Amino acid sequence: MRIRRIGIVGAGTMGAGIGALAASAGIPVVLLDIPATQGDPSAPAKKGLERQLKSRPPAFMDPDRATLIRLGNTRDDLAWLRDCDLVIEAIIEQVEPKRELYSRLESVVQPNAIVASNTSGIPMKQLVEGRSQGFRERFVGMHFFNPPRYLHLLEIIAAPETSDDTLTRARRFAERVLGKGTIRAKDVPGFVANRLGVYGMVLALRMLDEFNLTIDEVDALTGPVLGRAKSATFRTADLTGLDVLDHVAKELTRATGEDFELPDWVQQMVAKGQLGEKSGAGFYKKVGKEILTLDRRTLEYAPQRKIESKELDALNRLPLSTRFARIRELEGNYGEFARTYLLRLSHFVLERTTAVAYDIPSVDQAMEWGYAWEAGPFKQMDMFGLQFLREGFKRAGLSEPELIRKAKESFYADNSTKVLQFDGSYSSVQGIPGAVTLAGLHSQKRVLQESDDASLIDLGDGVCCLEFHSKMNTLGQGVLDAVRNALTRVERDGLAGLVIGNDDPRTFTAGADLSSVGALVQRGEWKRIEEAAAAFQQTSMSLRFAPFPVVIAPFGLTLGGGCEFSLHADLIQAHAELYMGLVEVGVGIIPAGGGTKELLFRFTKELAQYEEADPFEAAKRAFKLIAMATTSGSALEAKKLGFFRDRDRITMNRDLLIADAKQRVLDLAPGYVAPTMQTITAVGKEGYGNLKYAAWAMREAGQITDFEVKLANEIAYVLCGGDGPPRIVTEQDVLDLERDALLRLLGTKETQERIEHMLKTGKPLRN
Ligand code: NAD
Repeated sequence: MRIRRIGIVGAGTMGAGIGALAASAGIPVVLLDIPATQGDPSAPAKKGLERQLKSRPPAFMDPDRATLIRLGNTRDDLAWLRDCDLVIEAIIEQVEPKRELYSRLESVVQPNAIVASNTSGIPMKQLVEGRSQGFRERFVGMHFFNPPRYLHLLEIIAAPETSDDTLTRARRFAERVLGKGTIRAKDVPGFVANRLGVYGMVLALRMLDEFNLTIDEVDALTGPVLGRAKSATFRTADLTGLDVLDHVAKELTRATGEDFELPDWVQQMVAKGQLGEKSGAGFYKKVGKEILTLDRRTLEYAPQRKIESKELDALNRLPLSTRFARIRELEGNYGEFARTYLLRLSHFVLERTTAVAYDIPSVDQAMEWGYAWEAGPFKQMDMFGLQFLREGFKRAGLSEPELIRKAKESFYADNSTKVLQFDGSYSSVQGIPGAVTLAGLHSQKRVLQESDDASLIDLGDGVCCLEFHSKMNTLGQGVLDAVRNALTRVERDGLAGLVIGNDDPRTFTAGADLSSVGALVQRGEWKRIEEAAAAFQQTSMSLRFAPFPVVIAPFGLTLGGGCEFSLHADLIQAHAELYMGLVEVGVGIIPAGGGTKELLFRFTKELAQYEEADPFEAAKRAFKLIAMATTSGSALEAKKLGFFRDRDRITMNRDLLIADAKQRVLDLAPGYVAPTMQTITAVGKEGYGNLKYAAWAMREAGQITDFEVKLANEIAYVLCGGDGPPRIVTEQDVLDLERDALLRLLGTKETQERIEHMLKTGKPLRN
C-alpha cells in the first residue's frame, strides 16, 4: 500500500522539521501537538510550523508547500490521523507519554497504517509494550537527524515483531519520496550514529586535557583534516547545546553501561548555563564580529587563535585518501593526539559494530550521512592501514577486535565494490535498489570514451551518461569536445539517448571555465574569444537539436553555463537540492551560451498563450533573473523562477538521480522528434527604453554602480532584440546579440577586474 498522506504528532524541532520535508516532497501532512491550555488550542502546532518557516537554512524547499500541512491538537483532532498511511511520533523523549500516545493512536489509525517513532534512543521493544499484535507488527523506529531536510541519514529500527512489509514500506517511502539515506540499525540504545558519534565527541573533549591542547587546537585536529565539518568537536557541541549533549551522554551511559560521561569542567559549564550558541556562550562566544574561545585553564574567553602549523596545512592540502596514511608519520604532540584519537575511536567502532549494525557499510553511511564525515570509520581505517591499527592496539594494550582479525588487508575490496561481512567473507556492497552510481560503472569498465575532463558511460538499455570531472566540473574546451563526441557517438551507434550528470558531492558545475576566458582576454585574442563563445552556444543548441532525447540531471551548484545547458536539454531531471542560476553578471558578463536567449523565448512563448499579455513582461522577467543573478534555493524554487518547464522533474534522493534521468530518456525515446528553430517577436526600442530606465532608477537610488548600469543595458539590449522597431527574431538572431554583448563587455576594464578577482578569491567583485 502506498503512503500518500502522513500524520506527525509533536510539532517541535523534529516533528515540524519532518513535516516541512514531507510537504516539500508534495505529501499532505497532519501535524498535531498538545492543546494549549488557553486561547487557540492548536497554537503549539502553529508555532512549530512558524519556526520552520523562519528557520535558516530554510526547512521548506518552497514555503508555499506549508499549505499542505493541516495543523491541530491531540485533544480535538486525533481523528484526522485516520486518513494517514503513516503516523510519526516526535514528542518528548520519555517512555510514558509515548506509550500513552500509542494507546490512543491504536484506536484511531487504519489497520494497515504504519506507526513510527522518531526517538533518538529509547529501544522499540520498550515502546510497544502493552500494544496489540497488529500494532506491534506495524510499528517501526524512523530516526531522522536534525535538520531533517539537510541531514541525509534516517535510521530504521525494527521492534521485535515489526513485519517485513512495514520495514519495506517505511524504507521505500523514506528513500524514494523523502529522499533520505536509510540504514537499518539494531534496537539498541543510541542506535548506530549517536552511539558512535557521541563517543567520538566525548573522546575528543576528554583528550584535550590529556594532551594539554587548547579548544582551538582540538577543533583544528578533528575537523576538515579528518574529512569532517569545520565545526569539528567543540563548535558542533555548541551548536547541539551542551545540555543536550550532556543529557544524551548520561542516557547512553545509563542504558549501555559504557562510559560516555563528559569531563567535569564541561558538566560545570552546563550547570552554570553556558550551553553553547543558544545561551550566547559555550566553548566559543561571539562578541560583535569577533569569535572568542574559552581558555580551558582560566575558564575565561580569549580571541580565537588560528593554528599555525606547516604540517597541518600540508595535510589539509592532500586528498583524504592519502591524508590518513600521512597522519601515521605526523610529528609532535599533534601527531600523537591524532593517532591516539583515531586508534581509540577505531577500537570502539570495531568493538560495537556487530551489536549496533547489520553490516559495515551502514556504519560508514551512518557517520557520513548523519555526522557529515567525508568517509565513515571503516573507510578511514582502510586509509589508515589495518596493520598500523593492529600494531597500535597492541602498543596501547588494547585487545584485537574480532572484526579486524577477520579482515584481510582492508575492510573494502575490489575497488570498494566488496566489503567484509560479519562472518569473515567478502561480498558485494548493496546500494538502494535501482540506483546507478557512475563510480560503480567505472569499475565495471562500462566507460565508452574518456578524457581528462569527461567520460561517456554506458548506463545500459541504449542510454549513455556524459559525466564531467574537470575542476569544479567547469565547462572548458575539454568538456565541450566531450559533449560533441558524445552526441556523435549516440547518433552513430543508434542509441536511445543521452543523460548528462555526475557523482560530485556538491557541484554539478560551476559554469564556463573562466580561467581560459581570462587568459584569452589578457592576450587580446578577440577572434579566438568570439570563436569560443560561438562554440559554447552551438554546444547548447546541439543538446536541443540532437535527433534523440538529451536529459540533464543537475544537483547542488548549477551555475552559469550549467544552467544554460540545462535550459537547452529536452528535459531536466533535477535533484531536489538545486542551487541554479545565471550568475554571469558577477563576473561582468551576460549569459551568452544561449541562457539569455532561452529565457526570453521561453517566457515569451508562455505569455503568448494569453491574448492580452504584453510581451514586454517576458523580457522583464528574464531581465530580473539575469541582472540580479537570482539563484534558486531548491529545485522547487528553480521551477517557480522559470528555469523549469512543466515537464521537468525532481528526484528527492540524490542516489536515484541518474537512474531517474535514464528512465526519462527511455520514456522520450520512442518516436522522438527533435524540436525546430523557433521565432518570436522581439519588443525593440520601447522595451529597451523601459529596462534602461529601471537600471537608471536603481543607479539613482544608489543600489547599483555605473558599470552595473552598463551591464544591465547590455542585457536589456539582447532581450529586446536591439533598439529598433519590434521585429521577428530567430533563436540564432538572439544568440548573435548575446555574443556581441559578451565581446563588448569583455573589452571593459571593469569586467576584466571582476574576472581577475573571481579567479583570485572565488568571490564576486562589485565595481
Ligand atoms: P521538542 O521539544 O522540540 O518537541 C517536542 C514537541 O512535542 C513539543 O512541541 C511538545 O509540545 C510536543 N509534545 C510533548 N508531549 C506531547 C504529547 N504527549 N502529545 C503531543 N505532543 C507532545 O523535541 P524534539 O527535539 O523535536 O524531539 C522530539 C523527538 O525526536 C524526541 O523523541 C527526540 O529524542 C527525537 N529526536 C530529536 C532530535 C534532535 O536533534 N532534536 C534528533 C532526532 C530525534
